[in-house]
Amino acid sequence: MSSRVRIVGGGLTGILAAFEAHRLGSRDITIQERFEALGGVARPKIIHGAEMRDGCVYFGGAGDAIVETLTAHGARFETFDNRFGSLSTGADGKRVFTWDFGGPAIDAPAGKVGRPADDSLAARLAAYPPQIAATLESYVRWHLETDPALIHGEAAIPLAINRVFPAAADLAALASAKANDPWADELYAIPRGLSGRTANVTAALPAGGFAKLFDGLHGALTRLGVKVELNCLVPPRQLMAQDDPEETIVWAANPTPLFKPMGLSTPSLVKKSFFTYVYAVEAFDGPCPVYVQNFTAQGATFRAYLYESGGQTLVVAECVREADLKTLPTELRTLLSGFGALKLGPVVHSDAQPRWIYHSRAAIDGLAALRGKLTERFGGQFIPGAWEPYAKSAKLAEVNAALAMARQATPARVAKAG
Ligand SMILES: Cc1cc2nc3c(=O)[nH]c(=O)nc-3n(C[C@H](O)[C@H](O)[C@H](O)COP(=O)(O)OP(=O)(O)OC[C@H]3O[C@@H](n4cnc5c(N)ncnc54)[C@H](O)[C@@H]3O)c2cc1C
Repeated sequence: MSSRVRIVGGGLTGILAAFEAHRLGSRDITIQERFEALGGVARPKIIHGAEMRDGCVYFGGAGDAIVETLTAHGARFETFDNRFGSLSTGADGKRVFTWDFGGPAIDAPAGKVGRPADDSLAARLAAYPPQIAATLESYVRWHLETDPALIHGEAAIPLAINRVFPAAADLAALASAKANDPWADELYAIPRGLSGRTANVTAALPAGGFAKLFDGLHGALTRLGVKVELNCLVPPRQLMAQDDPEETIVWAANPTPLFKPMGLSTPSLVKKSFFTYVYAVEAFDGPCPVYVQNFTAQGATFRAYLYESGGQTLVVAECVREADLKTLPTELRTLLSGFGALKLGPVVHSDAQPRWIYHSRAAIDGLAALRGKLTERFGGQFIPGAWEPYAKSAKLAEVNAALAMARQATPARVAKAG
């Protein structure tokens, strides 16, 4: 790797890239973050000592690569029984709660599925039998207010519809189909409680909260000699003008501002904003933390996440649109009702934020073109911060692989220069 590594963006991706560059031997590393603290989207606002989380960002349980890396640098995590569930609409219109399963349960048999015809979300839905496809399509239209033909199939992951439980299926036959047909395995699920699987039984959250995690990691980076420059917005044009073969750039930030300077048009976001409302919880007799996904395509909330922070219990409603505060408490009580009875206090925080996690097909094509231009301009010395995948673990693997390649590429570059 070139002797200098400059990381733009101090979210989880940028922090992990700094630790990895250091592990690979680089000793001149800088993180530049536009805000006054590290953490990015996972860093919540704090009100009266409690974190106002915009959604549930969990870490994996024992053996999780990110948890292991951050623990090695002094972070502490608390592992807990990972409880979650979903609400779907049954064939008779009744509510169906499915526990320890975060996807939709659709009252249909496990009809044959096929390989999607292309990479769109519409094609992924069309790979299911018609009844399941139609239910999923109305959910996607409610959630994103757009045509699934315009969305990339990978958006199924953040939409939590990457696997469907066909609730009228014969479970033994479904298990056999999943074992023998890769597409049945990709598209269908058997809830944990019915399959006996032990994946996701535990998850982890940072002990003392996310702000404490990121402040501790800032200290760990400083002790390693990494320079952390806060309140430092890096203008892409300045970056594009630089021509230092001794510097590797990791763009661990939103790629939107890179398109124009690279002579490309910027693909538009799928959805402008998502709305979040945090309520104080006066009483809840179920597990904590817990989250429940709403697949009924009714109301405003697509997920309710109940958690503890600063000695308080809170619940956040993540909404597809601005919610009606008169009806939102009932929605939340209903969503969580299978796990426990909820008594709500007042709304303590609300927010509206864009989310760059549901990509359109145009955005995926645009990102590929952007990567091409950046490679032309910088070779392997420009590392995109894994913009396409949603999962933290996938981002980590992609950036680490690119850092390792940049490290290998250095001798050739130096030889050419000499
Ligand atoms: C509500 C929600 C829940 C999620 N839950 C999960 C989950 O449970 N599991 C999972 O794996 N993933 C989840 N994700 C995906 C999540 O986005 C990633 O896992 C991870 O937190 C993203 O970190 P990041 O560093 O890539 O991006 P960010 O956190 O967005 O960090 C980018 C940083 O770059 C900075 N920046 C931007 N532009 C500039 C500039 N020009 N100059 C300097 N700094 C700049 C920003 O201020 C920011 O700090 C969730 C996302 C959301 C929004």
